[in-house]
Amino acid sequence: MIPYGRQHIDQQDIDAIVEVLRSDFLTQGPVVDRFEQTVADYCGVPHAVAVNSATSALHLAYLALGVGHGDEVWTVPNTFVATANAALHCGAQVDFVDIDPVYWNMDVDALEAKLKAAHAKNRLPRVVVPVHFAGMPCDMPRIHALSQEFGFRIVEDASHAIGARIGDTRIGNCHHSDLCVFSFHPVKIITTGEGGMILGGDEELDLRMRELRSHGVTRDPARMQGNNAGGWYYEQTALGFNFRLTDIQAALGCSQMNKIEKFLSRRRALADRYDELLSECDIDLPARDTVRQSAWHLYVAQVPERNLVYESMRAAGIGVNVHYIPVHLQPYYRERGFCEGDCPVAEAYYRQALTLPLHPGMTDSEQAAVASGLQAALRVVRR
Ligand SMILES: *Cc1c(COP(=O)(O)O)cnc(C)c1O
Repeated sequence: MIPYGRQHIDQQDIDAIVEVLRSDFLTQGPVVDRFEQTVADYCGVPHAVAVNSATSALHLAYLALGVGHGDEVWTVPNTFVATANAALHCGAQVDFVDIDPVYWNMDVDALEAKLKAAHAKNRLPRVVVPVHFAGMPCDMPRIHALSQEFGFRIVEDASHAIGARIGDTRIGNCHHSDLCVFSFHPVKIITTGEGGMILGGDEELDLRMRELRSHGVTRDPARMQGNNAGGWYYEQTALGFNFRLTDIQAALGCSQMNKIEKFLSRRRALADRYDELLSECDIDLPARDTVRQSAWHLYVAQVPERNLVYESMRAAGIGVNVHYIPVHLQPYYRERGFCEGDCPVAEAYYRQALTLPLHPGMTDSEQAAVASGLQAALRVVRR
């Protein structure tokens, strides 16, 4: 089976991990600090907090921005369930903004209309979470302008989008958001096995998330309520978690960062070639933009008779996939009042969505096999 996504691990990655195994620190230590600095420098942002998953990263980002009972967090249905779930874990309510039919990202006109309606009812969200779907950046300048007008905070779910750009600047610089989250799950752009990171420009948010990452405990005398009684002394000042990343994982992350430009350019080349190979198929392929450049985590097409095409390609050993089942249609969310018709664009998109295999280790001949497999399946369903 040609997988839809896969990590790319080389001898340098393995050597980096073995080196940590022989060192003093296995859990969070100096290599986590180095990984945070490496990613922060790459993105051009002052602060970065590494955690054990993007799910944990979203949870800490929301908590740091004060999300709790009585608050609303808005995101899109075209995302992984974790984006919304993390808000529920904070005690907040979730609501969904539909996607646009071109980029399949948050529809900023729909967001603006929903904000106006919410303003009239005094139910504005505390946080809005745009998701850079498939690696294509959302229209962040416009979402940021709305945040100024309506007074909400922004967390970017950039799980797909490390290395994506808006003009000359990288996603993660937080020029148009409060915080930005990356995932290092093996199918994403770079991996730490499991892992995530929160980037931001605000030092207080950074310190708060560092404490929450490790049980809400501080060893910084400046942040203690009592007197620092000695070198052994620490204080728990908030209810935190163990969301730490290990130095073993961070070593893999640092090593992967050495290759990120190579990964991104291979992904870009594969996406360009899919565009060519599939140009005669008469199906919708990912939209391009002159200013916003995708990191190409996913290559998604819109195909007729998606279920049949999916089954026929799977039977041919091609690991196509579907991203995403709209979150609001999950049974858990239906039980909380959402239903079919709430986000018609995301629902229509989902019915035809098909993710084609794309990862840096994929060969040209594997890609040709995917394209001809799709062409064959389309001929059958169109007959
Ligand atoms: C992968 C992903 C997550 C969750 O990432 P983990 O690191 O697996 O917790 C969240 N949001 C989106 C959009 C994702 O693709």
